[in-house]
Amino acid sequence: MTEENPQVEGHNVPFKAETKQLLNILIHSLYTEREIFLRELISNASDALARLDFVMLTEREVLDPEQPPEIRIRTDKDQNLLIIEDTGIGMTRDELVDNLGTIAHSGAKAFVEAAEETDRNLADIIGQFGVGFYSAFMVAESIRVTSRSYQPDAEPAAWIAFGEDTYRLESAEREKRGTEVRIKLKEDALEFLEESRLRQVIKRHSDFVQYPIFLGESEDPVNRQTALWRQNPREVDQDAYQEFYKQFTLDFTDPIAHEHMVVDAPAQMYALLFLPKNPQNLVFSPRKEPGLKLYARKVLIQEFCNDLLPQYLNFIEGVVDSEDLPLNVSRESVQSNRVMALLKRLVTGKALDMLASIAQDQPEDYIAFWEAYGIRLKEGVAIEQNEPEKLFPLLRFHTSKDPARWSSFADYLERAQPDQKEIYYFLGDDPSAIRYSPHMDAFRKADIEVLVMTDPVDPFMLLQLKAFEEHPLVNVADAELPEEALQEPDSEATEPENLEIEKDLTERIKAVLEERVSEVRITRRLTDSPARLVDPEGAPEQSVQRVYQMMDKTFELPKKVLEINPRHPIMKRLADLPADDARFDLVVEQVYENTLLIEGLHPDPVSMVGRIQELIVSALDKGAEK
Ligand code: ADP
Repeated sequence: MTEENPQVEGHNVPFKAETKQLLNILIHSLYTEREIFLRELISNASDALARLDFVMLTEREVLDPEQPPEIRIRTDKDQNLLIIEDTGIGMTRDELVDNLGTIAHSGAKAFVEAAEETDRNLADIIGQFGVGFYSAFMVAESIRVTSRSYQPDAEPAAWIAFGEDTYRLESAEREKRGTEVRIKLKEDALEFLEESRLRQVIKRHSDFVQYPIFLGESEDPVNRQTALWRQNPREVDQDAYQEFYKQFTLDFTDPIAHEHMVVDAPAQMYALLFLPKNPQNLVFSPRKEPGLKLYARKVLIQEFCNDLLPQYLNFIEGVVDSEDLPLNVSRESVQSNRVMALLKRLVTGKALDMLASIAQDQPEDYIAFWEAYGIRLKEGVAIEQNEPEKLFPLLRFHTSKDPARWSSFADYLERAQPDQKEIYYFLGDDPSAIRYSPHMDAFRKADIEVLVMTDPVDPFMLLQLKAFEEHPLVNVADAELPEEALQEPDSEATEPENLEIEKDLTERIKAVLEERVSEVRITRRLTDSPARLVDPEGAPEQSVQRVYQMMDKTFELPKKVLEINPRHPIMKRLADLPADDARFDLVVEQVYENTLLIEGLHPDPVSMVGRIQELIVSALDKGAEK
């Protein structure tokens, strides 16, 4: 009982503002898809039956224990009544108020907001918002809910609403456990008195409800009822899976793929797994929370169980049902159960198989999957303690040669140089940095393809991704390519006179940069770039440094080595500049900061503008002299 709702029997109580708004929209609009109200009421009835099954496991005292679980739908054509009755858990008087009198469902608020904002036909979107019980107001003039809780001493009670403004509670007569929803149909909704119409709606939206749905006094259920996952996969046609998925998630697009497992060892299990096309589609779905639906011997144990798949695979939807889980397992003790560990291994293995076969047989779908969920798999490589290499073939990367296409390691290796063993990668913050990276000079020259790793999760992934099969992963910044493979023999370099000039140049540069670099030295690995930064011997790998940086803001990167390319025109001219030429320092500073910029290490790029302008003036002066 809430303060603002004095629940005096027989008095009218106003609905909350939000509820009124919702009801107003529902009552006054003509949805072509308003038949979904029946799905919502059946789903409530089915939930009530599932909750009763669960209660029966633990509680001794249950009203009418012999009462079989069922949902029955009747009509009274003289009075325009549609009646949906279940033998589920029922509601006490207080529960009626709490559950139906206030707005319980977050989807309701979202629906009201969407209804105000969208230009689209609400019929298109209503299915995405589980507006639940209230959707009955699309067809109802009034609704009377009579319920009796499973608790043996609870009194039956009734909740009545005539429209959007108020509801009322009354004492009621009801012998049986369960709930009856009695809808007085609006004049324009009398189609729902017709048995054929009801049958059609039940088949369309509630075929997989696991409890029998009877029409009238019939003893033949309308719905197929047997849990799809408990059927023999060979006897289920493909459409049934799609249909099940849609009824399960209310996602209007087909899933990318599904897997149906029936396993006897090491643990008995039925499972049905789906890969949704787009995580966005589930935002307003009844399955918007991650987790699989877990049954033990047909009894619903957990609506969203997160102990059956590693967290990075929690975008997979579906149902798991095991005969080996103890029935008295409580929701809390599920995690620590030994069988659960077995089930998790089976389900995870199957989920990965599913992804592998999509990659194999539906490459376009796999790319769509990768674009939606790829980061999750990279995360998986970073955190998976148990055979992370199973995820490696599922990874996709852009590459230096084809920035638009996605390549697997296998694709990359197929295109690699004949004697190439390594898989080279570029690690950075920004995919476009690869174009200017001096580390790429040698690779461009030797025509070696390089994978692009610029997602924030990539350094974490690399901690556990050292090799793919027998191919080591090598950062282009650390790569030791044989020099002779890269460039024409550099005859200049071997002349003692040149070596003297180069040595002199490195010393002058070091004198300018002082302690900012640990060393300045000559390299023969650069072609297009004047200089680059590399780590000194013994420094942690770049990916490790990045991880440290992300985890600890005060982490200081090891001082870098500046490598210079003596054949680059900048370096040649620098070497020729007289000792007292002021431009020497300017150019060295700028070249150094350019390398910082390229490595994504520059703390304040804008600060370079002053110096760049000075250099421009000097270049223009030079031009004017000519
Ligand atoms: P939702 O089912 O999404 O929670 P609803 O508005 O449909 O939202 O229902 C609100 C609540 O009312 C349910 O969560 C449930 O506790 C209760 N309820 C609805 N229908 C029944 C029923 N047939 N039997 C028992 N409880 C019910």
